[in-house]
Amino acid sequence: MTEFELIRRFFAESPSARPAPGVARGIGDDCALLALPAGEQLAVSTDTLVAGVHFPSACDGFLLGQRALAVAASDLAAMGAAPLGFTLALTLPDVDPAWLEAFAHGLDRMASACGLALVGGDTTRGPLSLTLSVFGRVPTGQALCRDGAVAGDLLCVGGSLGDAAGALPLVLGERQADAQIAEALLARYWTPQPQLALGQALRGRASAALDVSDGLLADCGHIASASRQALYIELERLPLSAPLLAFAGVEGARRCALAGGDDYRLAFTLPPAHWPALQAAWPDLRVIGRVAAGNGVHLLDAEGREHAVPVHGYQHFGHSRD
Ligand code: ADP
Ligand code: MG
Repeated sequence: MTEFELIRRFFAESPSARPAPGVARGIGDDCALLALPAGEQLAVSTDTLVAGVHFPSACDGFLLGQRALAVAASDLAAMGAAPLGFTLALTLPDVDPAWLEAFAHGLDRMASACGLALVGGDTTRGPLSLTLSVFGRVPTGQALCRDGAVAGDLLCVGGSLGDAAGALPLVLGERQADAQIAEALLARYWTPQPQLALGQALRGRASAALDVSDGLLADCGHIASASRQALYIELERLPLSAPLLAFAGVEGARRCALAGGDDYRLAFTLPPAHWPALQAAWPDLRVIGRVAAGNGVHLLDAEGREHAVPVHGYQHFGHSRD
């Protein structure tokens, strides 16, 4: 199969490459052309996933396709951008039609769930890796950045944390779990749901936001340093799912939530006046702490006492994959 046959068969003719709003020209020319309404900015983000580093080399194509796009789209959610399109740069060791078919199918599934059109890419031979660039639009000046947190804001997250990190020993085949627990945790690893609608709902409300990809502590550290504020996280308030608690226990689940990556939930700071309306519309949101004058990220126990931030103790969970 030639490069062009491969592109046509698996990508150019896939449902996600059909004409879409905002895509003036898609696959087939030297560039795609995206049309942006007046008064909007283009949000752009790129993520690379390398086999053996970001995912197991021998993994299911369908799951990888879904996950790769979900991870990329999560950055649009974090900026409050509305999805527009994406490109796919694919490096393949060889052409395995069955695997490519499954991969394209998984990609399509997530593209349709996110409302993202495939507008171009590149196809090369080499060790398996994927680079996805996503494009979104956001009203000028309204993107959710990391540097706007203010003392007195609440610190919130978009749902339970730690499930994807909890699933890692299952993904790597190091541990087994009951079918129900394994299914729930593996779904959160392989099919994270980018919180695109939530991100857009946070425009004009959240003072700072990002998606949790490297673990809550590390990512909150980015907001703290960009905003020049301190972030206080209350351990008792971390939202932990029942399957994760059953699999890892309270201490293990907290470690996964604080130091494990791959959750792709939004974390954001919010002036307290916005909380009641937001909570009513998004019941899975949780307040987990607050912003105060100072710097760095701090953990508080049930009595409000400061708990050492266990950077070193947690490092064996901190698979650094950037
Ligand atoms: P060029 O050589 O001009 O960069 P290519 O021959 O690499 O173009 O690609 C031809 C067309 O197919 C381009 O529009 C490109 O964006 C698209 N394309 C290439 N690979 C992929 C892919 N894996 N997925 C989607 N589109 C692709
Ligand atoms: Mg090319």
